[in-house]
Amino acid sequence: MIYDDLGIPTIINAAGTNTRLSAGSMHPEVTAAMAEAAAASVEMHLLQAAASRAIVAATGAEAGIVTCGASAALLLGAAACMARLDIAAMDALPESAARNEFVVARSQRNMYDRAIRVAGGRIVEVGIPDRFSGAGIRDASAAEIAAAIGPRTAGVLWVAQPWSEPALPEVVRVAHAAGVPVLVDAAAQLPPVANLRRFIGEGADLVCFSGGKAVGGPQASGMLAGRRELVASALMQMLDLDLPDAQFRLPPEFAGNDAPARLPHHGVGRSCKVGKEEIVGLLVALRRFIAEGDAARSARLRGVLERVRDAAGQGEIADGAVPLLLLRPADARAAEAALRARGVHLGQGRLREGVLVVNPLCLSEGDIAPLGAALRAVLGG
Ligand SMILES: *Cc1c(COP(=O)(O)O)cnc(C)c1O
Repeated sequence: MIYDDLGIPTIINAAGTNTRLSAGSMHPEVTAAMAEAAAASVEMHLLQAAASRAIVAATGAEAGIVTCGASAALLLGAAACMARLDIAAMDALPESAARNEFVVARSQRNMYDRAIRVAGGRIVEVGIPDRFSGAGIRDASAAEIAAAIGPRTAGVLWVAQPWSEPALPEVVRVAHAAGVPVLVDAAAQLPPVANLRRFIGEGADLVCFSGGKAVGGPQASGMLAGRRELVASALMQMLDLDLPDAQFRLPPEFAGNDAPARLPHHGVGRSCKVGKEEIVGLLVALRRFIAEGDAARSARLRGVLERVRDAAGQGEIADGAVPLLLLRPADARAAEAALRARGVHLGQGRLREGVLVVNPLCLSEGDIAPLGAALRAVLGG
C-alpha cells in the first residue's frame, strides 16, 4: 500500500467529504478511466469541449468546464464576470478591473468567497441577518441587493443552501434588471440530482459544483456551468495558451459571435490548472452519479449506516439525500477525541448539541466492521 511506503497512517473517514481528510472516495470505474486518461495525450481545449457537452447535458446550461474544485470554479467564475471576453481586462486581473465588485447577502458570507478576492474581486455585503443573530426575523432583501448594484458591480454572488435568502429567482430578477450576472456557489448541493439543473433553471448565469464531494469524482475536481460567453472567458483564463494567436480557436462549445481577437497572457486561473485525469474522472463520476439516482443512492448509503449501527450497537439514522447516523454519547467531545486518537474521524458539525455524526460517503467496505468495533469500544453499549 502506497501510504505504508510513505509512512502515513490511513484513517477511517466517517466525517464525509472533507478536503482536510482527503475528500471523497472514487468508484473503481472512475479510477480506471483516470488511469486510461493518463496513458495518452490530448489537446486540453478539446477535452474541455467534450466536458462541456457532458456538463450541458447534465445541467441544461449553455456551456461548462471541469475545474480543479468548486473553489477554483468560484475564482474562475469571478474572473469571467470581471473580464468577460475583454482580453486586456483578462491580462490586468487581479488588478484594475473596471467592474470588480460582487454583491452578496451578509448572511451568505463564508470562507470560500476568498476565491473571489483572489481573482481580484471585492466583496460588497448587504443586509443584516437578524434571523441568525436572534435579534429579529429578517435577512437581506432583493431591494438591498438592487440598491448595492452600481457601475463597478461585476456580479452578484448567491451561496446555495436550503435556507439562503433572498431566494435565487428574486436575486436574478434584480441583477438582470441591472445587467449584472449572478454567480452561484452550489459546491455541496449535490445530491439531489435535480440540483444539477435547478440553479441554471432559476436564472443563474454561472454555477459552481464540487466534484470531490458526493458526486464521487477526484478530490481535486469541480465544475463551472453557465452562459457560454462567461464559461469561455473562464476557460481562456485557465488554459495554457502559450502559442501563436493564429493556432488557437475556441471550440464551438464555447464560442459565441465574439471570438477573441488575440490570446491573453496566462490568466489569473492558470494557477487552478486541472489535469486530463481529473477531467475524465469527473465526467465518469458525474455519469455514475446521475445514473444511480437519488433513491438508490440514499438506500445504498442507508444500508452502510445500518451495518455500522448494528456493529456499534447504537445510533439513530436520520434520512435525507445523504442519510446520517447520529450518536449521543454522554460526553460527545471526549468521545470524538478518543475516536480520532484511534484514527476514526466523525462529523463534528453537531458537537455543540452533543451529537456525533457518521457520514457514509467516504466509508469503504473494509471500514464498516472496524468502525463499528471502535464505536462500541469507545462509546460502550
Ligand atoms: C466544499 C465547498 C467549496 C469548495 O469546494 P472544493 O471542490 O473543495 O473546492 C466551496 N463552497 C462551498 C459552500 C463548499 O461547501
